[in-house]
Amino acid sequence: MLKNPYLSVVIPVYNEEETLPILYSRLFPVLDGVGKPYEVIFVNDGSRDRSQDVLEQLHARRPEQIRIVQFMRNYGQHPAIMAGFEHVRGEVVVTLDCDLQNPPEDIPKLLALIEDGHDVAGGIRGDRQDKSWRKGVSKLSNILRERITNIRMTDHGCMLRAYRRYIIDQIVESGEATPFITALSQYLAANPAEAVVGHEERAAGKSNYNLYKLIRYNFDLVTSFSVVPLQIFTLTGITFSILSFLLVLYIAARRVVIGPEADGIFTLFAILFLLVSVTMAGLGLIGEYVGRIYTEVRKRPRFVVKQVVEHNGVTKEAA
Ligand code: UDP
Ligand code: MG
Repeated sequence: MLKNPYLSVVIPVYNEEETLPILYSRLFPVLDGVGKPYEVIFVNDGSRDRSQDVLEQLHARRPEQIRIVQFMRNYGQHPAIMAGFEHVRGEVVVTLDCDLQNPPEDIPKLLALIEDGHDVAGGIRGDRQDKSWRKGVSKLSNILRERITNIRMTDHGCMLRAYRRYIIDQIVESGEATPFITALSQYLAANPAEAVVGHEERAAGKSNYNLYKLIRYNFDLVTSFSVVPLQIFTLTGITFSILSFLLVLYIAARRVVIGPEADGIFTLFAILFLLVSVTMAGLGLIGEYVGRIYTEVRKRPRFVVKQVVEHNGVTKEAA
């Protein structure tokens, strides 16, 4: 049995056969430079390319330091990181994307913050190299998330982060169906810190996110940290009730003074349409929460691990 390492690096991998060798050649010199025992846990999130073969070749080169958790199929980036968290042994944990958009060379910067007594050190993508619509969506969702959820962090989309182990244990224990690693860790942190880290274009391959996935992602984010959206609807409802009440008073008075009115049918329709659409949006919103409660209570496994490759061999977890 190997001694527990000081540092565990968790990296989700989805169709990254091209980036993995580059990552290997840049990450390991950095980790060797830290001068403490470490492990790197790659979680293969059901890649359809040769990522698993590449990972196994890398494992053969550093069997003591590399562990591979292989999923049965694709479950998504956050479930992959969660699976990595369930396997970490280090006192300090670092998460990193595989595509080298965040340079591994910045890991020591975050580790220094942890050594200084912070329990979470988050990266902020300086000079972000993404398509401009992506940056716009991120900016908007960062502002909204900060307003609605009260979680203060500059960049919830940056996966280059370092955590004390107890934060990771709490995340694993919370067992949420749709965990948001970045926001959740910030929420759990007693003494978080942030540092600007580099951001580059993807080393190879292409992004796995599109606009639809990003919208779903942001809905998940907001609904898992806040019920403010529901309260906004309650407030809207109350406001409309007061306005309608005043309108009723006015029309009643008008009827007494001037007599019945037949005009204004279209105005009435307009008001009705408005109210109906607000109600529909409200129902949909409630549905978002109910759907998430449903996913949560169903307690289906968030992912199924096919096998774990470690220095002492392969453990098959599912057939
Ligand atoms: N990823 C994953 N499962 C997925 C999608 C992505 O494990 O279903 C991994 C991917 O291999 C990478 C990280 O998550 O390490 C970030 O993905 P990507 O670079 O596509 O996202 P972006 O940088 O565009 O936000
Ligand atoms: Mg990326």
